[in-house]
Amino acid sequence: VAAPPPDYLARLNSEQREAVETVDGPLLVLAGAGTGKTRVLTTRFAHILMMRRAFPNQVLAVTFTNKAAREMRERVAAILGHPAEGLWLGTFHALCARMLRRHAEYVGLTNSFTILDTDDQMRLLKQVMDAAGVDQKRWPAQGLMAIIQRWKDRGLTPARVTPQEDSDYANNRARSLYEAYQSRLKDLNTADFGDLLLHTTEILRTQPNVLAQYHRAFRYILVDEYQDTNTVQYLWLRLLAQEHKNICCVGDDDQSIYSWRGAEVENILRFEKDFPGARIVRLESNYRSTKPILAAAAGLIAKNEGRLGKTLRAGRNDADGERVKVVSLWDSEEEARMVGDAIEAAHREKFRLSEMAILVRAGFQTRAFEERLIVLGVPYKVVGGLKFYERAEIRDAMAYMRILHQPSDDLAFERIVNTPRRGIGDGALQQMHIVARDQSIPLAVAADKLAQTDAFRPKPRSALRELFEGFNRWRATMAKEGHVVAVATMLDECGYTEMWKQDKSAEAPGRLENLKELVRAIGEFETLAGFLDHVALVTENDEKSEADRVSLMTLHAAKGLEFDLVFLPGWEEGLFPHQRALDEGGTKSLEEERRLAYVGITRGRKRVVISHAANRRIYANWSAAIPSRFLDELPEDAVEREGSSSMQRQRMASAPSVFSNGPLTAARKPRVIEAGAWEVQERPARKDAMTVGTRVFHQKFGYGRVTRVDDDRLDVDFEKTGSKRVLDRFVERAQ
Ligand code: ATP
Ligand code: MG
Repeated sequence: VAAPPPDYLARLNSEQREAVETVDGPLLVLAGAGTGKTRVLTTRFAHILMMRRAFPNQVLAVTFTNKAAREMRERVAAILGHPAEGLWLGTFHALCARMLRRHAEYVGLTNSFTILDTDDQMRLLKQVMDAAGVDQKRWPAQGLMAIIQRWKDRGLTPARVTPQEDSDYANNRARSLYEAYQSRLKDLNTADFGDLLLHTTEILRTQPNVLAQYHRAFRYILVDEYQDTNTVQYLWLRLLAQEHKNICCVGDDDQSIYSWRGAEVENILRFEKDFPGARIVRLESNYRSTKPILAAAAGLIAKNEGRLGKTLRAGRNDADGERVKVVSLWDSEEEARMVGDAIEAAHREKFRLSEMAILVRAGFQTRAFEERLIVLGVPYKVVGGLKFYERAEIRDAMAYMRILHQPSDDLAFERIVNTPRRGIGDGALQQMHIVARDQSIPLAVAADKLAQTDAFRPKPRSALRELFEGFNRWRATMAKEGHVVAVATMLDECGYTEMWKQDKSAEAPGRLENLKELVRAIGEFETLAGFLDHVALVTENDEKSEADRVSLMTLHAAKGLEFDLVFLPGWEEGLFPHQRALDEGGTKSLEEERRLAYVGITRGRKRVVISHAANRRIYANWSAAIPSRFLDELPEDAVEREGSSSMQRQRMASAPSVFSNGPLTAARKPRVIEAGAWEVQERPARKDAMTVGTRVFHQKFGYGRVTRVDDDRLDVDFEKTGSKRVLDRFVERAQ
């Protein structure tokens, strides 16, 4: 009689077991979200070790994030009963960096090569372009960087780029500039991120002895999130696996969301071609989510056309459960309030904070939720990114604002004096410091003085003068037109916004969105000082080390993760699907957005709350937001809608719904409106209602009459304090 299967196998269903126990030969596990692909991969890893088919260092396992690598290491250790040493387990980049250190000489580096960050990368490329006499006004370096990165994603060294493939960039000079850039990197004994894969693959391609060494070393290869591999990663895997062909890839074509970074979902189809006789295992039971959550996700993804097709059914015993909530809200502040309340309510229901996540389409969206969570005192973390007010572009812009408010803020001045570049080097800065110290004056004043002299070369001198004239002008704007207009104008005129517009890196559009969001946030305050105080308060002492925190992250960063409770805010046309996808037109980019929505919904185990706001503030203006088309695509029987989105679509000034566990009853409705929602209900509509002569009440200035209406700004002649300019949202109509 055969012995019963070990415990770790007993915890798998029969398809999963097949995938784990078929250790030899190529195997592709193609299955939907939450079906246990990652569990299969982890168990397979442990199984190979338990069966003594390989030593721990003979298995190569690739995960999509470092976090996933850590988790897999822990789970394997748990099955083995002890930690395994010397594992080759990590992301493509981490594994390649390790390999490249061993064989760096083949590509002209030494094993102590450094890895360049994006800033240094750009700087170096610009030097190369300068040396080649390329007019960077006409041909921005960022464009070339993007071309080079795509070539690297495809495994193309300069020598492998054919003349036909050369881009028409800078009169067909992209390839030769690429070559020059690579040789500069070599001179400096450094590699950029893309090089880690490119070089390693090139070594495996051209050095048979090295390849043979790895064929002996790695008996088994395991790959998670296979649908998001790019070409060079695929080539790397194929080279390493070609000898013994013990390669197991798990993936889901419906979750391919990185094509913008060069990922090729076609790699799934190539797998069967390149590894003839590959076993394909499909997993169909989802162990993560309740039935309604699965139904919502399945209904949505069914709208995509280019799919391999899969079945997904609930595999949990307790799979019945709450429907997916779709909540319509008035504006983003109310949305943040709803999410905050729902988190507190769920916490009272015994959901752990670490089991809750807010997943956003674009990084700027975290701001509203962060502020709400801070107000509520709910600990949170931003996964895979920085908290809103810690982001570089926000800190830069805040530094500009601090100087606008307070010219003696030396730290702020130092931060921005050469951002964007004004040709101010360390020498110039040193002179400013000396003058400032000698005369006990602020750095900015010292700089202003120096700029009136011949201390600096003409270029930095005129740039500085322009900056100081700017600050004078923006202060005048602030006095006349208010702080929101002043800040928006300042960020444009000082060249800061332009700097990011010129930047063609993948992060630049997100940074621009963050800047817009910042200006929106200022609009919520009456004065610049009030806003600056607010930020100082929200950013101070939040370094409490609490393990139990709500997670905020982008949908892209959430791949592979799961939470009991998931919030998916901002489902509006232009935000999700994102405007860039809509602008590109065509179904391809829209389908990728839909896959992203599918990824989002399928992160939830027990409860999913999707929301959209009917109004978004853009600078000082309100605009109506159209609910995302994805909301209409959710199957009715899987969702429960709160607040009527059709009403919102007609832009009726109806009462907003706030989050509640059941539908709003007639009896509750008025109370909900009273509970601090009057401003929300009235805000956008009021613009028409406030006219010259309207009697109003303001919290700080008291009663007065409107003398002028300018968009959402009102001039009011207050009875006690005289004429003031205020934002309309801070005044109430008085009887
Ligand atoms: P994704 O596509 O989102 O990466 P996945 O297919 O990798 O999902 P896993 O994360 O491996 O899915 O599994 C989803 C959840 O289901 C996990 O909590 C996992 O522990 C659980 N699970 C997987 N298989 C089983 C099973 N046979 N019995 C019970 N629970 C399971
Ligand atoms: Mg997974």
